[in-house]
Amino acid sequence: MRVAVVGGGCVGLVVAGDLAAGRCGADGESVTLYERDELGSGATGRAAGICYDAFADPTDAAVAARALDRYREWGLLSPRPYVWVARDDDDAPAVRDQAAEMRALGRPVETVAPDTLGERYPAIATDGLTACAVTEAAGTVGPDAVVAQLADRAQRAGATIETGTPVSLAGPTAVETTAGVESYDAVVVAAGPATASLVGEAGVSLALESYRAQALVTDPVAAELPSLYDASREFYWRPREGGLLVGDGAHAVDPRTCDTTADQSFVDSALTRLRAATTLDPDSSRAWAGCCTATPDRDPLVGPVADGLWVAAGWQGHGLMRAPAVGEFLADRLRGDDSRIDAPLSEQFDPMRFDGDEQFHPLGDPTADW
Ligand SMILES: Cc1cc2nc3c(=O)[nH]c(=O)nc-3n(C[C@H](O)[C@H](O)[C@H](O)COP(=O)(O)OP(=O)(O)OC[C@H]3O[C@@H](n4cnc5c(N)ncnc54)[C@H](O)[C@@H]3O)c2cc1C
Repeated sequence: MRVAVVGGGCVGLVVAGDLAAGRCGADGESVTLYERDELGSGATGRAAGICYDAFADPTDAAVAARALDRYREWGLLSPRPYVWVARDDDDAPAVRDQAAEMRALGRPVETVAPDTLGERYPAIATDGLTACAVTEAAGTVGPDAVVAQLADRAQRAGATIETGTPVSLAGPTAVETTAGVESYDAVVVAAGPATASLVGEAGVSLALESYRAQALVTDPVAAELPSLYDASREFYWRPREGGLLVGDGAHAVDPRTCDTTADQSFVDSALTRLRAATTLDPDSSRAWAGCCTATPDRDPLVGPVADGLWVAAGWQGHGLMRAPAVGEFLADRLRGDDSRIDAPLSEQFDPMRFDGDEQFHPLGDPTADW
């Protein structure tokens, strides 16, 4: 089978590598991956790189666990606990309830008293925390290392990677570049926010919206910290490059005009919240923005949308942590093999479960930040 993959982010690279490698050592498919710019130049290269399998939904948890296993196997995951906290009485029950649901799924999640968290991580200001949960089954990946290794893996397996090659679809399985139109047995579009307009060229409407998310990295800090999500102040951090990567500042955006330079208002507000949440007082050393995809029910769109045409998008900010599992799932399905994940992914992630003309806000509540 000849397969084209459109998009050289983490998802397209996993799909290309798994298709080219085949299953159980068998020869894989003939695969060409097209990337309009450089590999990782979309959301992947702009991601924070936080990974965990602490999800309350069984399918999300199974996908994330498989993805973590593969990142570990590839030597790309640095273990680091993931903590999430609430600061007011409204958010606290959700933290505790989620932790209980995750434990019921066998996830190593514990609720801890704020003082206990403070003893483990003295740089966290625990005053005002009303609930804290921690999972040890978590870690971080470096987006550049992920892209480099996944590209190497795909090429070693025999995939051809064409960068600097924007494509359009001349039909469900016909890929058009400046060199002409090439026909394939199957085309997988994993083009991030551009996925909807690309498959639109083949007459398919996708329920896919986009939002812009921002991040900064601080100057180095001298403190041992976990990755942390603050549910009340709606921001997160992870240690990176000796400092802290701090993220939030999300808002709906037209993907064609998504500015990848961070807003000064985001930098100011992220630093203010970080300083209030820790004993640290760092400045920002660099900041950026990227474009993420969303769906009406927050589950991704992974599967066929027309004869021979497949999509993989709609990660709701969790694409990097799920790519090894969903890319593998898509490659297995495309070959007609059984999924290795014990969850109803084909139904839950079916891209055709929506009509494609749904009106929805990519962040759920239009007044809320991400
Ligand atoms: C600030 C920020 C922080 C994040 N933090 C995390 C995190 O901690 N953990 C996590 O799991 N996720 C995180 N994410 C989300 C994550 O980055 C995405 O979900 C993931 O990278 C999506 O990967 P992808 O391969 O689907 O898309 P992308 O990485 O966007 O790749 C799509 C590729 O398709 C290419 N393309 C588009 N159109 C065409 C065309 N016509 N022809 C050829 N190529 C085309 C693009 O150039 C791009 O390289 C974050 C995102 C941002 C912005």
